[in-house]
Amino acid sequence: MMNAKISHHDVKEYCGLFGIFGIPEASVLIRQGLFALQHRGQEGAGIVVSDGEKIRSEKGFGLVGDVFAKVPPEQLPGHIGIGHVRYSTTGSTRIQNVQPLVAECADGIWAIAHNGNLNNAQKLRSMYQNSGAIFQTSTDSEILVHLLADPMYRLRPRRVERALGELQGAFSFLLMTKNSIMAARDPLGFRPLSIGKYNDGYVITSETCALVQIGATFVRDIEPGELVTIDAAGLHSSMFSEYTGHLAQCVFEHVYFAHPDSLLFGKNVHTVRFMYGQRLAEEHPVDADIVIPIPDSGNSAALGFSRKSGIPLDFGFIRNHYVGRTFIMPEDDQRKKSIDMKLAVLPEVIKDKRVVAIDDSIVRGNTSSKRIAYLRNAGAKEVHMRVSCPPIRFPCFYGIDFPTRTELAASSKSIEEIRTLLGAGSLGYLSLEGLLSPFENSQDFCTACFTGEYPVEIENPQGKKILERYE
Ligand code: SF4
Repeated sequence: MMNAKISHHDVKEYCGLFGIFGIPEASVLIRQGLFALQHRGQEGAGIVVSDGEKIRSEKGFGLVGDVFAKVPPEQLPGHIGIGHVRYSTTGSTRIQNVQPLVAECADGIWAIAHNGNLNNAQKLRSMYQNSGAIFQTSTDSEILVHLLADPMYRLRPRRVERALGELQGAFSFLLMTKNSIMAARDPLGFRPLSIGKYNDGYVITSETCALVQIGATFVRDIEPGELVTIDAAGLHSSMFSEYTGHLAQCVFEHVYFAHPDSLLFGKNVHTVRFMYGQRLAEEHPVDADIVIPIPDSGNSAALGFSRKSGIPLDFGFIRNHYVGRTFIMPEDDQRKKSIDMKLAVLPEVIKDKRVVAIDDSIVRGNTSSKRIAYLRNAGAKEVHMRVSCPPIRFPCFYGIDFPTRTELAASSKSIEEIRTLLGAGSLGYLSLEGLLSPFENSQDFCTACFTGEYPVEIENPQGKKILERYE
């Protein structure tokens, strides 16, 4: 599916994938895995399982705990399965769009779960519709069902590889038949996807934090351009695309999306954010009494900033964990309400202090300005803002839902203008060099939302939701 987005941010699909092969009561582990991936999407969740004969599925709107609260494991029997948590990107809030999608092709049932955003979905969709195909959803992900069902691919060797080879953009896919699962990552590796081992079975997950959650061990990442198939004969790997000479792993996964304990693109997320904080303290030093993280994604960077600067860390904001991440909530009014409910400020910590607040990013700027106002109202003497990524000036077309360009604070405003808008005493953003500094292979990261250099051609640069017209 397409993107999902942000507290200070907006909408597209962002999603989490979790698959199991060869483990009894797969649905129980998938549910646990999806809990660990809940931060990647809170709009809907689904599980599809197979016992080798029959495929069963359950899906619904809301959090994993709500969707599956009344689903006993006996209702989803099987040792093979895939699951999905969704934030809506392409395709609005329709139950048909909640994944995994299940389709009956001429050779049996296929289930599909997707994280990312396909940049040639509209073209492929029109092509199939013009030849009579009927689409059940308004998501870009459904294109893959049609490719797999097409005799052009279905009746020829390397069917899945060739179908995947038609897709452009950002995608991690989990596919399932009644006796196998498949996992694929796009040739530039925008979105993460990893393999784990659990007893004699295999696990596939968007983030390694879900492996820890179920007691599985990390094996390796799926390679960009690789299709991994797991069936009764074991794990097989094939490539559906040649290495293009560089990758475009989403650096914003490290900045904001991923869970701190995940091993993402070869690096631990907490460690990378900690380094961002250290670097910020070097790039934008400030005289202050305390460093305050904006929880949760500002925590690791604030610790790094504090250690490097010698300014003590304290908790001036307490997060309410029972309110969802605002940007993962699809509707605007929902988002506005939850911005106010998410954080409580502690005057006991803030009063009469010169405060440095550390946040992961500024998108529109309205969330940050509210938080700075909270700190001032709580008695802060000065409030300085440090941001652990560069100014976001361009929209993302690869699965993260930022607002349109005009709504991004940094697309038209200077840093000084944003500082004034926020009401901060000073404002400092991490440099692009700082953003890439934790990685030896810095050329292998997408930075398009900061630089405007898009690694894959955009089908519809004007549109945020490329399939909007199908809603
Ligand atoms: S544009 Fe930004 S958010 Fe989108 S994939 Fe690239 S780095 Fe990630």
